Amino acid sequence: MNAFQKLGLDDNLLQAIADLGFETPSEVQENSIPILLEQETDLVALAQTGTGKTAAFGFPMLQKINIDSRTTQGLILSPTRELCLQIANELKLYGKYYKGLNVTAIYGGASITEQAREVKRGAQIIVATPGRMKDMISRRLVDISKIEYAVLDEADEMLNMGFYDDITDILSHTPENKCTWLFSATMPKEVAVIAKKFMDNPIEITVGNKNESTSQVSHEYYLVNARDRYQALKRLADANPDIFSVIFCRTKRDTQKVAENLIEDGYSAGALHGDLSQNQRDLVMKSFRNQQIQMLVATDVAARGIDVDDITHVINYQLPDEPEVYTHRSGRTGRAGKTGISMVIVSKSELRKIKTIERVIKKEFVKKEIPDGMEICEVQLMSLANKIHNTEVNHEIDDYLSSINELFEDTSKDELIKKFFSVEFTRFYNYYQKAKNLNIEAQHSSEKDSSSSANSTRYFINVGKKDGFDWMKLKDFLKEVLELGRDDVFKVDVKDSFSFFNTESELTPKVLEFFTDFKHNGRFVNVEISEDKGRGTSRSKRRRGASSRRSGDSKPRGDRRSGNRSERRSESRSKRSGDSSNSNRKERRSNIEKKSTEASFSRPRRSRRK
Ligand code: ADP
Ligand code: MG
Repeated sequence: MNAFQKLGLDDNLLQAIADLGFETPSEVQENSIPILLEQETDLVALAQTGTGKTAAFGFPMLQKINIDSRTTQGLILSPTRELCLQIANELKLYGKYYKGLNVTAIYGGASITEQAREVKRGAQIIVATPGRMKDMISRRLVDISKIEYAVLDEADEMLNMGFYDDITDILSHTPENKCTWLFSATMPKEVAVIAKKFMDNPIEITVGNKNESTSQVSHEYYLVNARDRYQALKRLADANPDIFSVIFCRTKRDTQKVAENLIEDGYSAGALHGDLSQNQRDLVMKSFRNQQIQMLVATDVAARGIDVDDITHVINYQLPDEPEVYTHRSGRTGRAGKTGISMVIVSKSELRKIKTIERVIKKEFVKKEIPDGMEICEVQLMSLANKIHNTEVNHEIDDYLSSINELFEDTSKDELIKKFFSVEFTRFYNYYQKAKNLNIEAQHSSEKDSSSSANSTRYFINVGKKDGFDWMKLKDFLKEVLELGRDDVFKVDVKDSFSFFNTESELTPKVLEFFTDFKHNGRFVNVEISEDKGRGTSRSKRRRGASSRRSGDSKPRGDRRSGNRSERRSESRSKRSGDSSNSNRKERRSNIEKKSTEASFSRPRRSRRK
């Protein structure tokens, strides 16, 4: 008898569970399924996101409703359209062996008549957002007067979103004697009020601690200028000598680029994205599993299958568009009972995304500072000292000891230690002694808009209305060819034969490089940084002018067209390396870095971690 059988589930469900590959019930499933199967009771269950709540109410509901009837018997309210669809899909999977089962999702932003038609076909279960549900009730497009089970899923979130009145209204159309099952990650006062008002002596189940995540992952963010992203990444790596991490970028191109830069800078890194062959990906994954690669740079899609247990850090080099994706990313660490850290390198204009993610993961981020140079030197020094302390002596060197001893005859122990550690320390010290502070201050929200425009670049592009573009089409076009995210292209302004648009300044090199020899409908598309000061009168336009000049400095327009593509590329790479604007120092430093990192970073890492 398997663990699901023991809960009392019938064969149809057990078969579907086997197909899905679920082996053991989660805690919330184990606790709630037997109760819900055996009793007609109200229930309040508190469990974190990702603990399998859908099945906890879905299995019992599927087993208890009458599939031969076409009456709506189960209603599930959930806060968002995405969750609605997700729950409906999960229920369809769980119930795939129940012939004649109809699960219908009802949510805003899609055709109400189509949804009504689906309900009419005989939906035994409706999964709905409160807003659309209320709407459909008032238009008499659904009948929930005979439901036996009502589920309030993510109740805390629904209340956060202001659905209290809608929920009250919806439930007033349901029978008194139905069972109500409330699922929530947290139990704020408002949820307790709802439980009291709509439920009758509910059984309470709590998985993990109330109002506290059971997960082992802590979340940190580091606020830096967008152009310092890569430097920040290196410092985070240097400050964590035993790091074993996945670094997430948004596009394949950025993934490749960051990995290449890290390798060039002497880190044990590798790239994982969809443009690599299966064979290449297998090799990278093998090295990563063996911990020969410390930093795996990956796209979200490519990282989907990563099931490595010992990952110490997840670094969000760029944040994903969808906050839910962040959950998947951070879930790569803190597995198998270990603790993990999920770090986000964030620029000012993305700060609001942190707030959104906090709402989704129901945990707060800690704002941290990128360590300064001396901190890193100290960490590296102590890490080396510990490594030496823990090293087992290899007696193969005994034969050579007499000559070594001879060499150090006049050196005191104290002196010897200092010399020994200086070998490693000096490398970091030279690199970091004049490193600048990468941290920036968050501004008050009233200033946020201007800061984001100060960090953005305005471009001129020689296509416009007569090429068939309107602002939306041009935005889509740019997003597609440049592989950018949803919010990356903005202030698109289409004129007759030319247009303007903005991106964050961080993306400027990428945009300019891409359009050096790009043809659209047989014509070269020319993109330049706009000096468009005359256009428009607002203050922000002027500020934009200033920022274009700055971007112009870092990538002079004259240079752009000279030389072939690979020359330009290597030029931009050499520009990228180094931490400071002083080119002499930069050169010297990158030499030191390259030589010494080869000697140290890329040597095989033996007993890397305890
Ligand atoms: P929650 O609603 O608590 O956030 P979900 O019900 O969405 O969690 O489940 C999260 C994921 O876990 C889903 O992909 C689901 O298919 C999977 N899952 C649920 N129960 C189990 C189980 N017993 N074993 C393995 N995976 C499960
Ligand atoms: Mg859920």
